[in-house]
Amino acid sequence: MLEIKEYVLNKKVDISKKLSQVAGKPDIAIIQVGDVEASNKYVKNKIKDCNECGIACALFKFDENISEDKLLEAIDYLNNHPTVVGFIVQLPLPWHIDEQKVMSKISPEKDLDGFNKLSKTVPATPLGIYNYLKDMHFDFEGKNAVIIGRSDIVGKPMAKLLLKENMNTTVLHSKTSDTDKRYYLKNADLIIVATGHLETLNNTYEFKKTAIIFDVGINVDEQGKLQGDCERNLPVAFQSPVPGGVGLLTRVALMENVLKLLNIC
Ligand code: NAD
Repeated sequence: MLEIKEYVLNKKVDISKKLSQVAGKPDIAIIQVGDVEASNKYVKNKIKDCNECGIACALFKFDENISEDKLLEAIDYLNNHPTVVGFIVQLPLPWHIDEQKVMSKISPEKDLDGFNKLSKTVPATPLGIYNYLKDMHFDFEGKNAVIIGRSDIVGKPMAKLLLKENMNTTVLHSKTSDTDKRYYLKNADLIIVATGHLETLNNTYEFKKTAIIFDVGINVDEQGKLQGDCERNLPVAFQSPVPGGVGLLTRVALMENVLKLLNIC
């Protein structure tokens, strides 16, 4: 497997080459509500990725007290904007705003995050992992995949992508017993962990030596350090690091979703 950082750099070069063939820089937009530090960091990274790939990204940053109606108006504005190819609404939103209502207002044609079931894009986290595996010529067919976590933005779309590649795909979740979890894990060739809980996997579980693990989770431990959902250095062939793993794949997949909305990939 190519190191994720190097892979992502190459991928960005490919994307900027493809975009240099279209006239002008494509316009995208980010809507951010409030001034949460983590969101500021994610938004800053997305703008940096856009700059590196040759995409013009406008930030619409609103006060955290914005009303739901005003936010829906902003989405309407971007849905109907003649040059904006696509946009995202940075999550989470403040408690007084109905996230589902806001996300379903985004036109499927402009849904960069792929959260709307009707859109042609796929959520960036599962897409990033899938693209990486494809580019590394991972042999999907007939192999066993275990996904831990069944959210609409990671677990479920991940399962759909792997089923498309004819993997035997099992989705575990918070109601799966530890005995069953151990049973499925020891036969898994590919493991995707997205629970948001430290040590969802640790070295008390048995793995195939050849297994590949993608750790999606982002947690902050008691020392304030970023940690994934998995204990580090599990006895497998490959385990994506946190930070510097799935987060980078997600970011570059978002740029690929811009190509998808432009119909150039
Ligand atoms: P979510 O809370 O929507 O879903 C978590 C899922 O995990 C649920 O389906 C739940 O049933 C399952 N779950 C919870 N505890 C479990 C346990 N102990 N055993 C088995 N299953 C369990 O979360 P999400 O949006 O899918 O995100 C999951 C994690 O991934 C979070 O830490 C999030 O911050 C991170 N994340 C990272 C990226 C990235 O770019 N790296 C992108 C998206 C999400």
